[in-house]
Amino acid sequence: MMNHLTSAVVENPAMMNRRKALTLALAALAGAGGCRRRESEKPESEKPEPGLLPEPAAPLEPLEGARLAPLKVDPSLVIRSVVGLRPFRPSGFVLRREDLDGKILVHNYGHGGGGISLSWGCARLALQLAEPVAGVDCAVIGGGVIGLTTARLLQLQGARVKLYTRELPPQTTSNIAGGHWWPVSVFHHSRLTGEFGEQFVEAAEFAFRYFQRLVGARWGVRWVTSYYLSDQPPGSGWMEGPGGVLHPQQIGFRDFGPGEHVFPREHARKFHTLLIEPSIFLDTLLRDVQLAGGRVEVREFTTPQEVLELPEATIFNCTGLGARKLFGDEELIPVRGQLEILLPQPGIDYNIVSGGNYMFPRSDGVVLGGTFERGNWDLEPDPATRDRILRSNRELFEALAANLRGTPSPA
Ligand SMILES: Cc1cc2nc3c(=O)[nH]c(=O)nc-3n(C[C@H](O)[C@H](O)[C@H](O)COP(=O)(O)OP(=O)(O)OC[C@H]3O[C@@H](n4cnc5c(N)ncnc54)[C@H](O)[C@@H]3O)c2cc1C
Repeated sequence: MMNHLTSAVVENPAMMNRRKALTLALAALAGAGGCRRRESEKPESEKPEPGLLPEPAAPLEPLEGARLAPLKVDPSLVIRSVVGLRPFRPSGFVLRREDLDGKILVHNYGHGGGGISLSWGCARLALQLAEPVAGVDCAVIGGGVIGLTTARLLQLQGARVKLYTRELPPQTTSNIAGGHWWPVSVFHHSRLTGEFGEQFVEAAEFAFRYFQRLVGARWGVRWVTSYYLSDQPPGSGWMEGPGGVLHPQQIGFRDFGPGEHVFPREHARKFHTLLIEPSIFLDTLLRDVQLAGGRVEVREFTTPQEVLELPEATIFNCTGLGARKLFGDEELIPVRGQLEILLPQPGIDYNIVSGGNYMFPRSDGVVLGGTFERGNWDLEPDPATRDRILRSNRELFEALAANLRGTPSPA
């Protein structure tokens, strides 16, 4: 699987030479507005005889990304630093039913770095484990994206829902998420089983369709073009690329090789996906749950017994990382992520993922990532990490800006 969250960006002489070459190519093309000849150029034999009028030139194709505005990255533009702990299990999320003390207990937790993306789909699978739910009193524990989507789908199926939670938005991990629809870092490949793989794909497909119906300002969901940059040709894995189980969700998929794009890496993979703004989305979701009669009680549970003593007959455990302590799941670990949020910049309307860097332009700020620190529980932003995220993203966007201007990069 392409893991875009682990490796840092390092400048090297080879890259600088490539950049110079690209810069010269762009400068040569500047008169044509950053374009390249189509690959279907005519062979020698078809060229006109000397003295005859030349045929019209082959149409020009712009370099991919030639019209993008580069992001400005500067410490003075940082509006906040945030940290969240991804609830990660190497074998993947838990979607399981238990029948205990005359109650139905459905677990729905441990979605790692893809909980926003998978939310509606996992909620649907959780409901299926408890069916029928129409007319049933249900308790949902947890007020993050998993609990709220579970509560809302239950209501839409005719259940009466009460939400119990220690924290509500904006105090949840779900509020920290970047909001890119692409369920990465949800499981470890060495632990992938057929059964989990099926759940994962079913959840992802359903969620992707469901989010499409929510596009618009009310839910804070929109389509955006994503570019994945790399110096090696991007491969295909179990999940992504041609033949991957989520390839149908990579809308408008295309790979661009050296000389075909403006980015300061050798290769660029492009596809369109959804960007979900957690603060808007979770707020609307919570309001809809309440408008539909959902009651909310702020409460922390410390033992499974307390959970089973709830008056509701069917209980959904959507406590995210909290399930580790509450239900003794030691496989569940935090994967810490620190993000730097910049002042919103009008005109930036694309995502970039490049090695350890990523950029998602939201209306509440431009999200710059990031880190992926297994087993780290520290919720305080780290100043050195902040500097590293800003520096490496700045290098990337300055190199992009130089390519777009057709001048040598300052790096
Ligand atoms: C930096 C970062 C970037 C991310 N980016 C993305 C992204 O771009 N796309 C994506 O799809 N995902 C992303 N994620 C992952 C996503 O945020 C998580 O998978 C998701 O938020 C998990 O949702 P949740 O509802 O299970 O957990 P949470 O949001 O943590 O909610 C858990 C809820 O349970 C409650 N709770 C816990 N324990 C108890 C208890 N004992 N008693 C009562 N209540 C309890 C909490 O108060 C909370 O309300 C990112 C995560 C991080 C940290």
